[in-house]
Amino acid sequence: MELLAIVVLVMGGLFLWGLWISRRRQPKRLEKLPDYEGPYKQRLRWQLVSYEYGVTGRPDFILADGESPVPVMVKKGKAPGDYPHDSHVAQILVYCLLIHQAVDHAPRYGVIRYDDRTFEVDYNEPVVLDLLELIDEIRAQHNSLPDRSHADERRCVACSHRRICDESLT
Ligand code: SF4
Repeated sequence: MELLAIVVLVMGGLFLWGLWISRRRQPKRLEKLPDYEGPYKQRLRWQLVSYEYGVTGRPDFILADGESPVPVMVKKGKAPGDYPHDSHVAQILVYCLLIHQAVDHAPRYGVIRYDDRTFEVDYNEPVVLDLLELIDEIRAQHNSLPDRSHADERRCVACSHRRICDESLT
C-alpha cells in the first residue's frame, strides 16, 4: 500500500513538471517500432520497481534501439496535438528511470504511442536530475501516507504490488 501510495503521489506531482518539460523538447515522429531482443530481455519481463525512489511500473512494450532498451507506452485515442499529454511525458520518463535502474543502462528516449501519432521523449542527464529532484520534493511533502482504502481481498489478490505491500489482505 505504501509503495502504491507513493507512486500515486509521485505521478500526480509529475503532472505539472511534465507541463514544463514537454515545452522544452520537440517530440519527433517515430517511423518504426522494432521488437526488443537485446541482452536485457529476460530482466525486463516483470514489473519494474525502484525502492530507492519509491516508484514502480511496467511499460506496455520494451523495444530495442541497437542494444538499448526503449520503453513504450500505448494510449488509446488520438494525440492531443503536436505534443503528448503532459502526464504521459512524466509517466514515460519514470519508465525510463525504472529501466535505467533495472539494467544499469540508460534508455536514450521513451516512446508514447497514440492511435494516430507516436512521439519520442528524450531521456538524458538534465532530465534525470530534474526528475529525481521532483520525486524527492514530492516524497518530502508526503511523509504520512494514506491507509488502505478498501477491505476487498479480491483487489489485493489481483494487485501486482501484493508481494511488497505491507497492508495486503492476502
Ligand atoms: S495489495 Fe491490496 S492494499 Fe496493497 S496496494 Fe494492492 S490493493 Fe492496495
